[in-house]
Amino acid sequence: MSVIVDHALLPTLKQFGAFDIGACFNCGNCTAVCPLSEGDTAFPRKIIRYAQVGMRENLLSSKELWTCYACGECSETCPRQAEPSEFMAAARRYAIGSYDRTGLARTMYTRPFLGTAIAVFLAAFFAIFMASARGVQATGSLDLFGFVPEDLIHTTGIVVMVIVALAGLAGIVTMARQIGRAESVGWRTVVGSRAAAGRSLGALWEAIGVESLGQRRYRADCDADQAAVPLYRRRWLLHAVTMWGFLGLLAATILDYGLALLGIKATGTPVPIWYPVRLLGTIAGLMLVYGTSVLILDRLRSANRSVAHSTPADWTLLALLWITGVTGFTLEVALYLPGAPAWGYWVFLFHVAVAMELVLLAPFMKLAHVVYRPVALFFYALARTAEHPDRQGGTR
Ligand code: SF4
Ligand code: SF4
Repeated sequence: MSVIVDHALLPTLKQFGAFDIGACFNCGNCTAVCPLSEGDTAFPRKIIRYAQVGMRENLLSSKELWTCYACGECSETCPRQAEPSEFMAAARRYAIGSYDRTGLARTMYTRPFLGTAIAVFLAAFFAIFMASARGVQATGSLDLFGFVPEDLIHTTGIVVMVIVALAGLAGIVTMARQIGRAESVGWRTVVGSRAAAGRSLGALWEAIGVESLGQRRYRADCDADQAAVPLYRRRWLLHAVTMWGFLGLLAATILDYGLALLGIKATGTPVPIWYPVRLLGTIAGLMLVYGTSVLILDRLRSANRSVAHSTPADWTLLALLWITGVTGFTLEVALYLPGAPAWGYWVFLFHVAVAMELVLLAPFMKLAHVVYRPVALFFYALARTAEHPDRQGGTR
């Protein structure tokens, strides 16, 4: 198979935040210490090599890129200070930018000022758009949907979700095709027979249930340097509660809308704290605020190797998640205060605007790893289901 060499790959990766990976002399220390590297999936050295020699396609079709949890152990041992951990993070940003055909992800990553301006503009746009249709501020109790019409929020939310689904799907298809080609995995391998479908279902469960939601290897293998750290400050737990919190809030929002569509409960109707959807939203919100708050503090203090270097993209995502969580709770407090405080309406407007922006930008920033990582882990799990008969090749 011919290999196309991209001489601009290394400088391009630097734009995405890679350190001086040209200094790497291929000693292999990083691979030796990486708790996730094993057998023929040796990384990060293999991925670094791809970058050094300009093997763009090989880099973008590497499922190993997404198995890395950015623990930073490899950077600790690098004799050349090539920061392999930061390189892996930069390569994932580069991959997100390459899978996205709109160019927005690349702009967000490589032009931080413009990226921040886009983020601010989007929040302002959503806020002004909602405010332009605002109604009266009831004074007896907060009537949020009397202030910003429910239909407007739902319609805007659906438009945002459709854009996100299309952009996310396009990225997933591009990524899956590239990895599939490299791994000699096609449709026939995945669903071509009853046995293949069974293996695929098992791989899907391992990728989504065990590894992504359960964080198995993050917990088991990437926590070696955290033995003295209390459980509530451990990296894997902070990452997990932030992810669970975000997904829980998304689920609560969709369920709330679903209940309204089924005529069970109108959106915004006051319900007791134990009402299932509200309970889910409250617990998920607490997780999100806790996880993002500690992650922000850890990054500010460079508390460990994995957060020693922060990019504008890291801060943008954490800021949006934190603001969404905190404004949600502030709103919950406002709902129970007597006299319907006027600021409650504006917090609501701000909360909706930032939440919409967060969801809309999801495929174009770091949050996209929520879908790309499970796809890579699926191929990873599939490759481990032994040499099944439908496969035409092995893992590289
Ligand atoms: S430890 Fe450093 S120099 Fe050695 S292979 Fe890894 S990145 Fe290169
Ligand atoms: S950051 Fe951790 S998981 Fe990622 S390559 Fe380095 S040692 Fe391995």
